[in-house]
Amino acid sequence: YGDYNQKIDYVFKVVLIGDSAVGKTQLLARFARNEFSVDSKATIGVEFQTKTLVIDNKTVKAQIWDTAGQERYRAVTSAYYRGAVGAMLVYDMTKRQSFDHMAKWLEELRGHADKNIVIMLIGNKCDLGSLRAVPTEDAQEFAQRENLFFMETSALEATNVETAFLTILTEIYRIIG
Ligand code: GDP
Repeated sequence: YGDYNQKIDYVFKVVLIGDSAVGKTQLLARFARNEFSVDSKATIGVEFQTKTLVIDNKTVKAQIWDTAGQERYRAVTSAYYRGAVGAMLVYDMTKRQSFDHMAKWLEELRGHADKNIVIMLIGNKCDLGSLRAVPTEDAQEFAQRENLFFMETSALEATNVETAFLTILTEIYRIIG
């Protein structure tokens, strides 16, 4: 393996949160492996994937955690948030309810995570434009008020996925590195 001796300068833990079926697993699959699958996953339990990238000549290993269905049972544990330096708050832009729940998720996140955590609001499934239920301005306003980064993405079409992760990781690097 070419990267066997690769020196890792930083490991950044980033957690994905939000209602089930908003696309958290597919965003992670797209970012980590450039894959997308229409099948919903069957596994339950916390999982993470890693991707190593270079920021400012430093090797950063991003360790991205997926709830893998725990949120369905309101059982996202404090262990999930422990050590996280970034969080992606994901809603489905075709499901108003998933956006309305963002305040609850943010509250839970702020209750468990480090106070300096970098948070990005993600409106996923922007490929389904005709079914949009959340205007961009509503999300922008919420993000501004809560001091979050904001981006609309499509895991399906790979729109803004790389950019979203790079933005949050670069911001984390700026704070920690
Ligand atoms: P999770 O429960 O939040 O992890 O959601 P999943 O990643 O399992 O996705 C839920 C469903 O939405 C699956 O059927 C995915 O194929 C679909 N999905 C995820 N991302 C997108 C996207 O960007 N666009 C579209 N059209 N469907 C998506």
